[in-house]
Order: sequence, then structure tokens, then C-alpha cells
Amino acid sequence: MATATLTIDLDAIAANWQALDRMSGPQVQTAAVVKADAYGLGAARVARALAQAGARRFFVACAEEGAVVRQSLGLGPQICVLSGHMPGDTEMIHDLDLTPMLNSLDQITRHLESLPGHPFGVQLDTGMNRLGVELAEWQAVAPILIKAGPELLMSHLACADDPDHPLNEVQLRTFHDMTDGTDLPRSLSATGGILLGPRYYFDLTRPGVGLYGGLPHTTAKPALRLSLPVIQTREVAVGETVGYSATWTARRPSVVATVAGGYADGLPRSLSNQARLWDGDQPCPLIGRVSMDLITVDITDLPELPRTLDILGPHQTVDALAVAADTIGYEILTALGPRYTRRYIGQPA
Ligand SMILES: *Cc1c(COP(=O)(O)O)cnc(C)c1O
Repeated sequence: MATATLTIDLDAIAANWQALDRMSGPQVQTAAVVKADAYGLGAARVARALAQAGARRFFVACAEEGAVVRQSLGLGPQICVLSGHMPGDTEMIHDLDLTPMLNSLDQITRHLESLPGHPFGVQLDTGMNRLGVELAEWQAVAPILIKAGPELLMSHLACADDPDHPLNEVQLRTFHDMTDGTDLPRSLSATGGILLGPRYYFDLTRPGVGLYGGLPHTTAKPALRLSLPVIQTREVAVGETVGYSATWTARRPSVVATVAGGYADGLPRSLSNQARLWDGDQPCPLIGRVSMDLITVDITDLPELPRTLDILGPHQTVDALAVAADTIGYEILTALGPRYTRRYIGQPA
């Protein structure tokens, strides 16, 4: 088989959710963010594992993602849509019982007119300037809107991965100013915000990346192994080059493995000559350019020819690979390619 195997440990994901849930104490609800197909890991399976672990509320980016999660979970768990109530989504929001997080006066009007009485939340902008109702608009509509009974007021931190960034405190204060006295359930924190401590918890937290083993959840269990099959091996003489643009030259008689996986599978071209792959505990340098479907690896020091090499696993986490590629773990995760065979271990589903 010339497709890679992505092994996803549902027990690790469930344990990561439980760890974040424990961190914020019993009075705070811990939701689970499963947008972008659960950060590339498969929203249907991941959401079911998290529901079994105790998650009762899920966040997705758009109504279409909500449909996948609803189909997987059935009725019961709450599914919140971060992009709110967009034109054309009314039927889906109604039929699938999705809860839009309304972001603007337009969305508020659309929702209250088309689905009066249907649950909704409101996303407030406290300084990130990406999604959410702005302070002046909020002051204008809050009296009416609060009567309509939003079931959550939420906002999102721009710099939560940097505990010392002054914007965290600014956003916290603004969120208090906008929501104190409303007596409505509130949520400010994703993974990074949870790690900022109890002042950031409010009633509900919304971790995403920390469930999947990524920073800034430093004590998360790694949830992934990505094994690339070796298609071919060859001996390369001193002075010969490997790959496009001949960017690697053999300085010793070398053995090179060509493995299935490339930038079409979400392994960034910026990994060229940068990362390592692993045969068990033994690291092997990625050499030459990452091409569309293939990567070349220096396996000269291995005692035997391997059948597969791991590019993600216990020795190289998503974040370590992200550093090698000069990006962030989120981007590595969400780029994980459609060609991989996704194999789930852990919980029955
Ligand atoms: C993506 C997202 C989250 C989850 O963020 P992580 O950093 O992955 O924990 C939470 N809330 C909102 C609004 C988001 O966009």
C-alpha cells in the first residue's frame, strides 16, 4: 500500500479533554472544539469519543461541519456554530438543532426574524477584531437581545498563547465590562486561555488544539502517529544528488529511502532538508526537497531496511514538526492529508 497510515489515539484525545476539564474545576463546563474536521483528525469519530468522555457541547466553524457532528452524535449534545447564522443556513440550523454564535447586527436580525425562539449565543469582540459584536453595537442591542435569552455570551483571546501579553488583561477587562450583570453564561477561553488561570474560565471553556496534543497544552498526551510506507530504497554514491533542484549531495556512500507522503498530503515543502523521520527510536534525516507525493530520507545508519518511517509519533510531535517547517502545530494538524488511511485506536466507536 502506497498510502500513509495516520493512527489517531481516541483515548489520548479523551484523556486530554478530561485533563483540561479537571483543570477548570466542576463548576465550569468544558466544551470541545471540533472545527475543521476536528483539526484534521475526523470530526465524526473524535466527537463521539469526546461525547463518551463526557463532553456535552461542541463548537464547529460552520453549519456544514455542524451537520457532520450532529449525524455522528445524534440529538442531545449542543453544537455551536462559531460563524453564526449566515444567509442560507436557517434550515440547517433549525433542522439539526444547531446553536449559532451571532456575530453582528445583521446576524442577530436574521436569526431573531427567521427562527424566533431558537437557541443562540452571542460572540462579542473584546479586541481581536475578527468576529463578534463590537462594544457600541452591543450597548445598543443588549437590552433587547438579553430579553431574547442568549444561552451564551462568548469572546475569543488574540494572544492567549503568550501569558505575558498585555492584550490578555485588556480583553478580560473588556469582557467583564460588556457582560457583568447580565447573569448569562459566559465563555472567554480556548486552550491558551484555560492555561491563563481561573480568572479566564467563566462558565465554559472551549479547548481545541489542546485536545489533539498540541501546544500550548504542554502536558497533553500525543494523539498521533503518521507512518509513511517506504516505496523504494537505493544506494547513492558520493557526489550524487537527491531530489528536485538537486539540493542534497551525498558526502558518503548513502542509502536513501523514498517514502509516500508529500506536500499534497500536508507535509510542507518547507520541511525540505529540515525534519527527521523515525525508524522506531532511530532518527533519519529528511534529505532533499519534499515533493508532491514523495519524501526522501537518509537511512544509511539503519541496520536494516525499514518498511515504514514515522514522521509524527512519540519522538516527533505535531509541534516539533511545526518548528521544523517554520509554522504552528495547528497548521500541521489541519493540513493532514485526505490520502492517509485514518486508523482509530482506543475507545470503541
Ligand atoms: C478555534 C477556536 C477555539 C479553539 O482554540 P484552540 O486554541 O485550538 O484551543 C476556541 N474558540 C474560538 C472562537 C475559536 O475560533
